[in-house]
Order: sequence, then structure tokens, then C-alpha cells
Amino acid sequence: MNKHEMIFNNQIQRAAEDFVQMFCAEKGELAAHKIIHEADDSQIAKLKKIGIPAKGCSIEKAVTEMMEEVYKYRASSNHPRFFGFVPGPASMISWLGDIMTGAYNIHAGSWATSPGASCIEQELISWLCGQAGYTEKSGGLFVSGGSMANMTALTAARDTMLKEETQHLGVAYVSDQTHSSVAKGLRIIGISNTRIRKIPTDPWFRMDIEQLKKAIEADRGEGLIPFVVIASAGTTNTGSVDPLPEIASLCQNNGIWMHVDGAYGASVLLTKKYKYRLKGIEAADSISWDAHKWLFQTYGCGMVLVKDKTNLINTFNAHPEYLKDLETKENQVNYGDMGMELTRPTRGLKLWLTLQVMGSDAMGAAIEHGFQLAEWAEDELKKKKDWEIVSHAQLAIVNFRFAPSGITEEQTDELNQKISKAIINNGYAGVFTTELNGKKVLRICAIHPDTTESDMRNTICLLNEYAQEFYQPLRAIS
Ligand SMILES: *Cc1c(COP(=O)(O)O)cnc(C)c1O
Repeated sequence: MNKHEMIFNNQIQRAAEDFVQMFCAEKGELAAHKIIHEADDSQIAKLKKIGIPAKGCSIEKAVTEMMEEVYKYRASSNHPRFFGFVPGPASMISWLGDIMTGAYNIHAGSWATSPGASCIEQELISWLCGQAGYTEKSGGLFVSGGSMANMTALTAARDTMLKEETQHLGVAYVSDQTHSSVAKGLRIIGISNTRIRKIPTDPWFRMDIEQLKKAIEADRGEGLIPFVVIASAGTTNTGSVDPLPEIASLCQNNGIWMHVDGAYGASVLLTKKYKYRLKGIEAADSISWDAHKWLFQTYGCGMVLVKDKTNLINTFNAHPEYLKDLETKENQVNYGDMGMELTRPTRGLKLWLTLQVMGSDAMGAAIEHGFQLAEWAEDELKKKKDWEIVSHAQLAIVNFRFAPSGITEEQTDELNQKISKAIINNGYAGVFTTELNGKKVLRICAIHPDTTESDMRNTICLLNEYAQEFYQPLRAIS
């Protein structure tokens, strides 16, 4: 190394150390800050003006500019009162694992380039499969998230259940609560909207099994081939779990692949108290499971698990001549042969590190805490007048709305939208809206292990204050 290089490396080391210090200090104060730091038009204009210089600047200057002008503008999904969409609270251990993994930049597409990492990912996948009740033939891999996990599993389902000549006849079944990434994945792999059946749900937002049966029979009658049912274990809207055992036996009797989208809810498998809620998942042919949701990992970290790993390998393996050197012995896995990505980061190591440090018991307890938080929210809502619980607390999610009598449906929708906007603008908490049964509702998804009972109760009290304030003028009119 010449002298110039050495000075440069020293500067980078100093910048890295400074960054870690700054970040950790900021993290400690997070709860006192606003949930969302929006970038206004002038900030966006400023960013667009930076451009790419022909001659570079000092590391220090570039880092400072990025900290102050870029990273600052964001939603803090790590905030303990961010109750918005799911992906969320990342553990600092995962953050550390991410830094370590990035530092070594391991190519985890093949065993030959990453024997240590590939072995650990394999061990972790096998442990996760065990939690789901899968046996030895099972396997899977780490992918970027739930969307990719769903598409990967559905591709294996297509190739296992349909022949090339019959692919155009395959029909897939989802519910009206299934995550949008499922239909997206199906369309990408050639299953168009006309062959995706959206099955209605029951009053608890679970797939209606009778309607599913009818739809399958009707499609059979038309000469179509039902090939996959996508059950949800924890829907994004309400946390509802489809009737997994019933769907499993229906699939078994009809020769249909059962996929469980557990991107959100599969983490419940690691709890002692609520694991039973996912009974039946062990019968699924494949499972999606996000670690960057309820296993507290930094993005993007998700898993796809399959009951029989040869189904993944049959779909995804490719052996071009320039990869011949990488062929494996028995029990050595080439992850490039099990999914879409060849060059891939070793996403599993940060989850491994997190579980090593926490242990599975503490992980389970951290997940159980979310159930409790949603129950506290519901309990507080029940003490207040004119609040309707639209979907009871389940899997850390509760849906509700302020619905006083004497105003129209439209006014009620507007009122709830306004309440959500107000609490977000206030910055105390992030409570967003969703739609259930055609109504606008407020939704709390509370999976942050550091959220306290008073965080939760205070959030509901503040929502109620806004509700009273915005309702006042309406009441005067009606
Ligand atoms: C979040 C989610 C997805 C999508 O996962 P990404 O990691 O965002 O790609 C799929 N299904 C369900 C049920 C989800 O909650």
C-alpha cells in the first residue's frame, strides 16, 4: 500500500467510526423525534441540484451532505410509535450484522465462494423449517422479502403442478385480503388476472372455505386446472389467519399446491403462547416469511421455505459451462440454484447473529409483546365513546374507527382520514388508514418491542382528542 492509499483508508476508518457514533446517539433519541420527516419541494429541488461532480470531494464533506440532506428525510419505521405498515423495527444487532456482511461482501450464490455463510444460511433455514413443522426433505432460501418469496414459491408451484402444455389452464386462488404481491407475482409468472380467483372472506376476514370449494369445482367444470391456493397466515390489513387445516385438506384431496403467505405472521411460530394459531401450516407445500417484519431485521430479509426442496431446485437450477467449477458435493447447497438471484448477499447472517445474541426465547417474547400492545389499544378504545372496533386485536393488529351516530358514511370516512392525518402531522404517533368492508378505518400494527403500555394508551387518547375536535362542527350542524 502506498502512502496515499494509507491516508485514504485512515480517512474512511475515521468516517466509519464517526458515523457509528452519530447514528447510535441519534437512535437513543428517536422516540422524542417526529415519526415522518417529509421533504418539501424546496428540499427535493436542492437534492436534484447536487448532481455528479467531475472531480470528487473529501469523504467528510460527502458524508455530511448525505446525512443532512438525504438520510434525514424519511419515515422512521424504527420509532416505537410508528404503527403504520408492517416492516419496521430493526434490531441494532441486525444492523450490526448488516454492516459485517456488507464489509466482507461475500458472494453467496454458490457454496464454493461462501462455504461459511452458505452453511450457516442452510442451518438457519433448516431451523426455521423445523419451527414450521417441516421435516428433512424441506429447504429454502433467503430472499429480499415477502414479494420475492411469494413469487419464488409460486413459480415452483406452477412448475410442479402444471405441464408446459397446460400452463395456460392453471388457476390460482387468493382471498379478498391476500397481499397484492401475490397477484403481482402470479402475473409475472404468466398467470393472468382472468385466472386468479378472489375468494370472499368471512366476518373475521378469513378465506371462506365453502366459497373456495365452489370456485374450484366451477373451474374444474370449465376444463381449467386449479393448481395453487394461497392462504394467509396473518393478513396485512387485520392479522387474520385463514383456516389452514381446512385449506390443507382441501388441497390434498384435490391435488393442489398450498402456499402460505406468512410474510407478516409466520414469526408467531417462534412464540410459545400463540404458535397454536398457525396450526396447519406444516401441511403447506411452501411458506413465505419476512424477517424484516416481525423478526426485527433490517431490509431486505425474507425467507421462502418449501416442504420438498427438490421442487425449488427443479425450477431454478441452471448449469452454464462457466459455473462448472462451482458444482457441489452432497449437502452443499448452491443458493444460485434455488432462486432467481445468482449474485446475492448473504442475507441470513444478520438474522443468525440476532438469534445468537438474543436466543430464541427472548425473540419469542419480543413477538408476544406485539399481541399485548394491540390488546392495550383495544382496551383503551373500549373506554371511549363512539369508537367502533372493526377488527379485534389479533397478531398485533387492531382496526377501528370513530363512528358517532347522526353523520353519513362519507362524513365518517373523512373524519377518520382527518384524525390519521392530524396525529401524523403532530408527530407523536404514526396511525394510518386502510379500508375494510368498504369503510375507511384506522389501523394500528404494533410490533415494536420497545413500545410501552403508556405509548399505546396515550396514542389512543390523542386520537380521541382529535376525533372530538373534528366532530364538534359536524355535531353542531346535525
Ligand atoms: C409485507 C407483506 C408482503 C410483501 O412483503 P415485502 O417484504 O414487502 O416484499 C406479502 N405478504 C404479506 C402478508 C405481507 O404482510
